[in-house]
Amino acid sequence: MTVSEKRKTAGSNWGAATKLVHGGTMRSQFGETSEALYLTQSFVYDSAEAAEARFKGEEEGFIYSRYANPTVDMFEKRMCLLEGAEDARAMASGMAAVAAAIGCQVKTGDHIVAARALFGSCRWVVEKLMPSYGIACTLVDGRDIEQWKAAVRPETRVFFFETPTNPTLELVDIEAVSSLAHENGATVVIDNVFATPVLQQPLELGADIVCYSATKHIDGQGRCLGGIVLSSKQWIDDNLHDYFRHTGPSLSPFNAWVLLKGLETMPLRVRQQTESSGRVAEYLSGHKAVGRVLYPGLESHPQYELAQRQMKGGSTLVAFELTGGRDAAFRFENALEIIGISNNLGDAKSLVTHPETTTHKNLSPEDRAELGISAGLVRLSIGIEDVEDLIGDIDQALAAASR
Ligand SMILES: *Cc1c(COP(=O)(O)O)cnc(C)c1O
Repeated sequence: MTVSEKRKTAGSNWGAATKLVHGGTMRSQFGETSEALYLTQSFVYDSAEAAEARFKGEEEGFIYSRYANPTVDMFEKRMCLLEGAEDARAMASGMAAVAAAIGCQVKTGDHIVAARALFGSCRWVVEKLMPSYGIACTLVDGRDIEQWKAAVRPETRVFFFETPTNPTLELVDIEAVSSLAHENGATVVIDNVFATPVLQQPLELGADIVCYSATKHIDGQGRCLGGIVLSSKQWIDDNLHDYFRHTGPSLSPFNAWVLLKGLETMPLRVRQQTESSGRVAEYLSGHKAVGRVLYPGLESHPQYELAQRQMKGGSTLVAFELTGGRDAAFRFENALEIIGISNNLGDAKSLVTHPETTTHKNLSPEDRAELGISAGLVRLSIGIEDVEDLIGDIDQALAAASR
């Protein structure tokens, strides 16, 4: 099947689960059930004329796997269907995706406004890397629309944020911030990892570009790194296309194949993880060793109303504070028997992390305080185990932490 024929096999009227099982599938002449893994660097042409036509863009087809590859293409198409995006570029990691989504559209003299609460490496990209190229960045409290407004300059090109944020699960109003960006001629880049494409659709809410670390819920089984940037065909043609081809952050076909299989089960996993997270958040809310419980699906969340409006569920992560501080948090982690200590998230296996001493250790104490990352804060990524077992594990570990 040629690339153009394959594009016609759309499926945009399907539900999300159907899209994730069938979307983008391109069968070879053998009619395989599971997606084929095209582990090849380049492609052979029937003639010199065919090679010329391919390079001229007169004939559709693959040229070199740094540009595009059939297995990677299936992954991109499936993600486009799910996200309602016209086009996408899959990348080797979530950070390759974020760095490309921002880096491909700014030049010296431009300005970026970003929410302060960001995944550590994302914050490094906007706060350290971009300014080293003469691209200024203003960090704001993403929850406060007035701060976004005040930060805008004539040379502002990009608004960048994640919602919910890592690790305190604060929300940014995608619709409000996107309209402000558009009034000021800026594009909106959203890192949608924490929400997942199952629970939140930023493009529908007004964002222009969505990035994922596919390493998280998309693989969902702890195997490989991956990332993707999705947007309109126009934006990709004008900004990302050349940048992507010539800087080479391409996804390995093998990892694309693993991620395609991950997508098939993602709605089942994310739904289960979200339901269990809600149960865990409720359980924690009543516990005497626990202070704040941060979960967008709880009515006690300060932005509960916004969560209801822009998300289809509460998140697969729960953060909470142990009133006993860092010592209690460490005792809690060390006492867990099922839940593993890991900075990763979105996995089938439940994981716990202590942000102050791991993912956010490079921030200054003042920056951590500003983000609400206290010594007693713990972040749980809830997996697909039986929720009764998870609550039992948390319960015995909290008891151990309080002793
Ligand atoms: C993990 C993560 C990233 C980076 O993804 P990698 O695949 O590890 O490069 C970016 N943003 C968020 C919110 C993440 O959780």
